[in-house]
Amino acid sequence: RPERARKPDWIRVKAPTSLAFNETRAMMRRLNLNTVCEEAACPNIGECWTKKHATVMILGDVCTRACAFCNVKTGMPRAVDPLEPQHVADAAGELGLEHIVITSVDRDDLKDGGASQFVKVIEAIRKAAPLTTIEILTPDFRNKAEAAVEAIVAARPDVYNHNLETVPRLYPTIRPGARYYASLRLLESVKKLDPSIFTKSGVMTGLGEERLEVHQVMDDMRSAGIDFLTMGQYLQPTPKHAKVMEFTTPKQFEAYAAIARAKGFLLVAASPLTRSSYHAGDDFARMKAA
Ligand code: SF4
Ligand code: SF4
Repeated sequence: RPERARKPDWIRVKAPTSLAFNETRAMMRRLNLNTVCEEAACPNIGECWTKKHATVMILGDVCTRACAFCNVKTGMPRAVDPLEPQHVADAAGELGLEHIVITSVDRDDLKDGGASQFVKVIEAIRKAAPLTTIEILTPDFRNKAEAAVEAIVAARPDVYNHNLETVPRLYPTIRPGARYYASLRLLESVKKLDPSIFTKSGVMTGLGEERLEVHQVMDDMRSAGIDFLTMGQYLQPTPKHAKVMEFTTPKQFEAYAAIARAKGFLLVAASPLTRSSYHAGDDFARMKAA
């Protein structure tokens, strides 16, 4: 039997039992929407859904890639749902969100990688909830990145997020099918096309990265003009996924955060349970008010 590393006591997760949790789930089902909260087996789902924060995952629940850390199903995805943009806008309205995070699976099978669906979703939310700030967390769009990013930037999301996930040395095993420098360039191009859009990226810890490698990633991100950084502990969703090599201590996260702030990131979230979308709205609002 494969040994699974015991979770330290700083990884504590509340059971999802509240009324608001059930309401959020029922609404997602009714609107036929997927969430990364469920598909990625996010440990914060109890807390987030109780506060009616959710991250919608558009373009289906089947991904054309198979990253070693990710719980999303891999296979041949279904046709794009033309009602999805309106349903996402409805969800934003019903949840009364000040800030919404939209992500997607990778759709290497689609001609535009799914970019036009991101654009439609942004437009539908702007129409239904003009005061809601919009954060999108996109795939790398592989060889379609230039056109995809141009189209999405033109729709003017408030925050453009794309995760680097790990240090470049670990890409072949952890993020096969992606290229570290292509992801960096994608974020750099967002900033060049529209400097008023905030750019954001994140890495997971505990996959075998060295501290100095993480510091180098921070430097690379700052050179690409990335504004916000998130860092959180990788947790193995099933025994088939990449093993946890180390549990980063809360103290080490604080050290990473201090270094990141010194390197000039406008927003830094680094803790064991930090995820790309964890407290994203609160942090963004706080930064804008400062
Ligand atoms: Fe969903 Fe993000 Fe909260 Fe996780 S941290 S439950 S993915 S909103
Ligand atoms: Fe998961 Fe994204 Fe990798 Fe697909 S591309 S397997 S959704 S991390």
